[in-house]
Order: sequence, then C-alpha cells, then structure tokens
Amino acid sequence: MKQPTLQAKLSAMRAEFPQAVSWIDQIPLEKWTQAYDGGKRYGHMTTNLAESINSVLKGSRSLPICALVKTIFERTNAWFVERATKIQCMLRAEHQFPDDIVALLRKNEAQSAMCHVQRYDRENPVFDVQDMLTIEHRRYPITYTVKLNEWWCDCGEFQALHLPCSHVIVVCSFFHLRVTTFVAPVYSLHNILKAYEVQFNPVRNQDYWSTYTGPNFLPDSIMRRHQPGRPSTQRIRNEMDDSIPK
Ligand SMILES: [Zn+2]
Repeated sequence: MKQPTLQAKLSAMRAEFPQAVSWIDQIPLEKWTQAYDGGKRYGHMTTNLAESINSVLKGSRSLPICALVKTIFERTNAWFVERATKIQCMLRAEHQFPDDIVALLRKNEAQSAMCHVQRYDRENPVFDVQDMLTIEHRRYPITYTVKLNEWWCDCGEFQALHLPCSHVIVVCSFFHLRVTTFVAPVYSLHNILKAYEVQFNPVRNQDYWSTYTGPNFLPDSIMRRHQPGRPSTQRIRNEMDDSIPK
C-alpha cells in the first residue's frame, strides 16, 4: 500500500473510530505497515516463514530431547542439501533468479505494456510514468514518479519488494537498461545458494565424544505436564495467534 493511501485510510478510520486509531497511533508506523518499513520486510507481512520451520518440526515435537535434536538436525540437513542441489541445477541451466521471482517479473513486464514514460530528464534519473487503472470496466490514467537512483516508485512496490514494478520496467525498456540491475542481490540464485552452503558435520559415535564437564540437568517433577490426552501436534502457537481481548 502506498503511504498516501495508508494515511487516507487511517484518516477515514480516525473519523469513525477515534479511540481505536488513537491506540494504533501509539505504535510507530514502521513497526506494522509495509508502506513505512523502508523495505525491511521484503513484502512479508505474516508469520509464514516461521510456519515453514514449524512444518519441519511437525511430528517430532513429542520426542524425547535427544531424539528431538537429532531429528531436527537430520531434517534440516536434508532440507539444506535438497535446496542447494536444486539451486546448483538451476545455476547450471543458467537461471539467474528463482522461478517465483521470474514469474513476478514477467507479470510486471506484461503490465508495463499498459504504461508509458511521460516525462524524463537525461541529467536526472526521475521519470513520470503513466499507467492505466481499471475501475468497474473503465480505464483511468494514473501517473507514478519513478526515482531510479533511490529505488523508489510512487506505487510502493519497488521499494517494498526490492523488485522492479511495471513502471520501473517501462523506464528500463525506454532507456535500454537491464531490468535485472534493479532486482535486489538477495534474490540472486548465487546468493541464495550461499545460505544453503553450510557444512553439516556428522554426529559421530558417542564413544568418540569429548568428556562432558558442564552442569548436569535434571527434570523438575513439579513442572511436568498433567493435562489429559495427547498434546496438539498441528502447529506451535505464538503470541500472534492470541488476539487481544476486547
Ligand atoms: Zn511502480
């Protein structure tokens, strides 16, 4: 969402629910809005990333501690090897970015056919791009300013996702610039591969372990769970799952 759109929605809410908005006003905008986060979330506004880890751990949470650690280690190891292998294959096939990023760039490229560069200055990389907005089957022209040097487009997508929106793509084709110059390095397969290149050393036979000299931990019987039935194994809840009462 664009910053002015967010402010307009907040103003509308302020008129109707002043108490609610005065509560929201206490939380800095960069903490909860994509429009003001300076692109730090890369478009992530949910806990889906944590859910992926939860799904890796699913089924092993009721295991004793040593088996639990061993399972997490083995699953993470398998996950890293599988992903690194997939990325290496893609790099050998001369892919530059993951499939979902390529699909998004293609979608924006198709949309850029509706856009044209209205105003530009050779000295200053600031452009006005006209796009067509469709509302109830009618099309309306709308202008967005693109500041290439600042990685900014008025639509908000470029700075939020660090990927070229349709307006940036039309500017690139107008000036024969490579669109991939404006894709953040974090999306390149070379960089993603670095995340999965961690070495997993095998846990050797226990007889070869060095002698443990740390403290010994014993379970506290008072803290033992006495709830009837099996614990839920669907997912690990976090504080975001619990809504604030009233
Ligand atoms: Zn844009």
